Amino acid sequence: MFWKEKTLNEMSPDEWESLCDRCGKCCTLKLHDEISDDIYDTSVVCKLFNIKKCECNDYNNRMKYVKDCIKLSPSNINELEWLPETCAYKIISEGGELFDWHHLISGSYDSVHETKNSVITNNVVSEENVKDDDYEDYITKKIIKL
Ligand code: SF4
Ligand code: SF4
Repeated sequence: MFWKEKTLNEMSPDEWESLCDRCGKCCTLKLHDEISDDIYDTSVVCKLFNIKKCECNDYNNRMKYVKDCIKLSPSNINELEWLPETCAYKIISEGGELFDWHHLISGSYDSVHETKNSVITNNVVSEENVKDDDYEDYITKKIIKL
């Protein structure tokens, strides 16, 4: 149970990666209303996101294709206010407990889907199939106000 014994800073690269619950919620496009400063989540996923597998199609080289993909790290996790409340990195950084459906607790990578905590259980669509002007039609909820 390394996530209980170590801080995010103390985790090895493999431990850090294994903390991800593979929900895909950080791969949906977020919209920023520049007037109200509200941030909205959408059901549109990044062009590199594989909707069948619920994972990035080229995780190791993703920055080459998606310049604004954000690499999570112990130093920026607390600044990324738009991350979902269920995000394992956010939970651990705030001293919380992983959900029962997290694979490190359940022992299965399927539980995030079986409990409908992944984006692919919510009718997402790739940004490649959405026109820029139509993103607002895919808003699912307001996340935060900056
Ligand atoms: S929201 Fe957090 S736990 Fe879910 S895929 Fe993104 S980094 Fe991983
Ligand atoms: S590049 Fe990959 S990890 Fe980054 S947002 Fe897109 S699908 Fe997610």
